[in-house]
Amino acid sequence: MNTFEANRRHRVLVIDDTPAIHEDFRKTLAVSEPTDKGLLDMESELFGVSAPEPDLGSFSVDFASQGREGVDMAVRAKAEELPYALAFVDGRMPPGMDGIETIRELWQSCPDLQIVLCTASADYSWRGIQTVLGTSDNLVILKKPFDTMEVLQLTHALTRKWALSREIKGRLYKLAYYDSLTDLPNRTFFLDRLEYLLKTNKRYGHTGALLFLDLDAFKRINDSLGHGVGDELLKVISLRMLDCLRGMVPVVRLDSGDMAARLGGDEFAVILSNLEQPDTAANVALRITEHLARPITVGSHQVSVTSSIGITLFPQDGEDVETLMKNADLAMYNAKRRGPNAFLFYRDFMNVTVRKRLALEHHLRRAIAENELSLHYQPQINLTTGQVVGLEALLRWDNPELGMIPPLEFIPIAEENGLIISIGEWVLRAACTQAKAWLDQGVPLPRVGVNIALSQLIHGGFLAMVDDVLAETTLPPRLLEMEITESMLMSDPDGVARVLHKLRERGIKVAIDDFGTGYSSLGRLRDLPIDCLKIDRCFIRGISMGMRDEPILNAMIGMAAALDLRVVAEGVESAGQVDFLRSSHCPEVQGFLFSHPLSASQAEIFLRDNSRARE
Ligand code: C2E
Ligand code: MG
Ligand code: MG
Repeated sequence: MNTFEANRRHRVLVIDDTPAIHEDFRKTLAVSEPTDKGLLDMESELFGVSAPEPDLGSFSVDFASQGREGVDMAVRAKAEELPYALAFVDGRMPPGMDGIETIRELWQSCPDLQIVLCTASADYSWRGIQTVLGTSDNLVILKKPFDTMEVLQLTHALTRKWALSREIKGRLYKLAYYDSLTDLPNRTFFLDRLEYLLKTNKRYGHTGALLFLDLDAFKRINDSLGHGVGDELLKVISLRMLDCLRGMVPVVRLDSGDMAARLGGDEFAVILSNLEQPDTAANVALRITEHLARPITVGSHQVSVTSSIGITLFPQDGEDVETLMKNADLAMYNAKRRGPNAFLFYRDFMNVTVRKRLALEHHLRRAIAENELSLHYQPQINLTTGQVVGLEALLRWDNPELGMIPPLEFIPIAEENGLIISIGEWVLRAACTQAKAWLDQGVPLPRVGVNIALSQLIHGGFLAMVDDVLAETTLPPRLLEMEITESMLMSDPDGVARVLHKLRERGIKVAIDDFGTGYSSLGRLRDLPIDCLKIDRCFIRGISMGMRDEPILNAMIGMAAALDLRVVAEGVESAGQVDFLRSSHCPEVQGFLFSHPLSASQAEIFLRDNSRARE
């Protein structure tokens, strides 16, 4: 009999030591009888008009002669997933357990079992029964002798009660443990399973894997195509995940400890409970990303989703669920940074870099308020006259906990998290304030260069901010030069060009930094309002090393002259480099040979000394 039939034909167990009583029950319950109108009416009253047709006479009845035998049968039936709904238990069954003892044991393994205790009138008092069994609405006491109608009526009512309560429990279980949209196990279920597996894997020395999957840019799909499409997409994705996991048999066993779950939103997870080798997790991840990336049709839309997966192994990568989840999330986060459809194992090294990055971000947020930022200034020199023609302001961050952090380490992070807007404003204000102060004190300063990041330049409030700072500090705009990297010209050409023109209107100069590394087109350079090219250090380094940098340098310097642009050679460190640059008619240089970046007070001394030497 399959589960469906068993559910339809409720199972009843009669535990009684008298064979004649077995016979009575068999006659009453097991034999198919015509539907009894009286019972039907009674049933509608009990369960409401919508109660389905009762299936009288279709119980499946088994018999035991002793309490122990009955308990064993009930336990076995439960294990086989064909549990009894109801047991009639005789009050006295010498020489074995009596009715009360039998019921106690039955409920230990089958707490939902409905029970009719059949007693002769003097056997037990209600109070006596309650003391042993507690109060339960799963127990009815039937006094002997009983008639067929009573037995039928009880059997019917109690098996129905059992079935309904199982159904309600099943629904509640589903609500609590499954995601209503995709029918996948939900976060609660997933965490329960993970916790259990973490313990057992530790005990048995097994290795499991947790794959943490996040869809890329799902929010954009939701926003542009609507939540209806988003929901449909999530359903398709869930099915695909299951499909491809099932396809991994024998590696993935969804019927055992393995599981795919929706953790919420566009986050999914897979548990592989016991791996032969970690590579398996990579295979599964690869397969999932490939499977999900195939175009999906929802209504009239065709959508492609990419995903990122972080993988942790357990128990190796986390002793508890929280750590494991956090590490999987970190791995996923890093996978996402590598581009679409990437997956990444969590490893210790990642922990270090990510933790360092998080700490950096954390401290960077307070760097301005805590006064940890400062500017250093590196002189730029005219090669012919030896005169200082400008200073480049270079940002320094000194954090009490992390020490000195080089700009190349924290500026990209500030660009990513948006802090560059406030940091960049701080830099511009500090540089202009200092330059104006020097001007007012008669310190000869022809120009101050300030580095500007791309996200800063194309930020909506950039020009207004520049105007504010210039108005506030009253620095003449012609003394200000903004350095933007060559790669910026290429990543958002039109956006950048628009702002550069506005800067030119204000009299602010523009230099292209790290020139020669960004593949900008000459045509574009000609059309942009640019004043200066700063040739990247890597070309200077190649001078007199037999590389092919020298002809390239000559070409760049010649081209700048043709376009009427100033040129600064960056990173000049040796006399040999100076000789070459001089012979190539490079007008300006900047580098350690002339001066390292200096604090404001040192820079002031440098400027004064330089000017005095020219007098
Ligand atoms: P950059 O604008 O090209 O600045 C020149 C970098 O080269 C500076 O590094 C400077 O110390 C270094 N340098 C100068 N002469 C020599 C030399 O002879 N040899 C060598 N090996 N290096 C030399 P720094 O200060 O570490 O800055 C690195 C980069 O960080 C800058 O490159 C710039 O892109 C960025 N940066 C610095 N300050 C700021 C800022 O305020 N805002 C923005 N957005 N970026 C900044
Ligand atoms: Mg620069
Ligand atoms: Mg540079």
